[in-house]
Amino acid sequence: MSSEPVSLDLDRRSFMKASALAGGLALGGGATGHALAQEGGEEPPDGALGNEGEMVKTVCNYCSVGCGFKGERKGDAFVGQEPWFENPHNNGSLCSKGASIYGTEHSEKRLKHPMRLEGGEWQKISWSDALAEITDEFERIRREHGPDSVMWMGSAHFANEEAYAFRKLAALYGTTNVDHQARICHSTTVSGLANTWGYGAMTNTLNDYRNYDLLFIIGQNPAEAHPISMQHILEGQKRGGKIINVDPRYTKTSAHADEFHRMRPGTDVALMMGIMRYLRDQGELDRGMLADRVQGWPDVEVELDKYDLDTVADITWISRESIKHLGDQFIEHKPNIQIEWAMGGTQHNNGTQNIRSYALTGLATSGIGRAGGGMQVMRGHANVQGATDLGPNSHILPGYYSVE
Ligand code: SF4
Repeated sequence: MSSEPVSLDLDRRSFMKASALAGGLALGGGATGHALAQEGGEEPPDGALGNEGEMVKTVCNYCSVGCGFKGERKGDAFVGQEPWFENPHNNGSLCSKGASIYGTEHSEKRLKHPMRLEGGEWQKISWSDALAEITDEFERIRREHGPDSVMWMGSAHFANEEAYAFRKLAALYGTTNVDHQARICHSTTVSGLANTWGYGAMTNTLNDYRNYDLLFIIGQNPAEAHPISMQHILEGQKRGGKIINVDPRYTKTSAHADEFHRMRPGTDVALMMGIMRYLRDQGELDRGMLADRVQGWPDVEVELDKYDLDTVADITWISRESIKHLGDQFIEHKPNIQIEWAMGGTQHNNGTQNIRSYALTGLATSGIGRAGGGMQVMRGHANVQGATDLGPNSHILPGYYSVE
């Protein structure tokens, strides 16, 4: 593989080819911290020896963007880091979190061995003593209080295999009291999308950001929450795509958008239903596609009857004229419309309905199942999707089989 820096200006095939090379070596979650890639910087070749050790490709363990870098390994130790310019996700860049991994990995505050509190003082104990104590306690608690007396708290930072094994361990213990961060993160996305078209995950790759004609960002601030992904978003804008940001707050993402509309918090459903109602009233729904591909669409239209412009303006605090304007933007740019959200959409008591309203708008604009249009669901933790698919969830078994 060439060590030449690559542009984010990749076509789909090149991106997938480059992505396939991005396996690398998982190195226990840390590396040293050179920050953002420097233009014209030098990238050491694979397997080259640096001053201290061997350079290997690895992936930042913090968030779902999955940025790559080259870690320097000496024996079993992580001793350095260099940019991985040809990685298609980040082109050598890292955000402040990825750039500070070395500090976290080697922090003197990091717990590196088991400790036991004895007489008010933390004492270091051996791994074998810790394992024996933990298993003895688990057995005692189950014997005295039953298996449901223990809550098994997993993690979206587990690898797929760890997540699967953790779920199985809880089941072996005899309980389904097991969960992880997705419960308060994108669990409403999983249920909202799965109940709309069967599977609860984003429909597009990062690469597909360059194909949107309209990117509608609602309840998400990628410029700060997923800063490296913003490079892809801005590449799409550079290619002529338009960004509309709707949010209660004006954020750094709003500053990059072509339009910003302030909304009343928690009124996403009314807004999306209002936009769909406007499309219908303008005769802009693809009747053939909806009849052929979408079961139950007539039921949606019964609901749309409730969302006239005045009602939606009253609920959302977005003016009647602005809602019409947003509807016109959807008409002008469909079907290559991508809708992006994160916690601002999910973390509501009606979060699942928010997500369903985004998904229905995707169907109403014929944007699903194609490059350019779709749902850009920005997950949080590094493997929150994999952990949800395979692991620690109280209500489902690995692979979304019901526990019932
Ligand atoms: S954007 Fe995410 S994956 Fe990339 S460096 Fe930052 S935390 Fe790591």
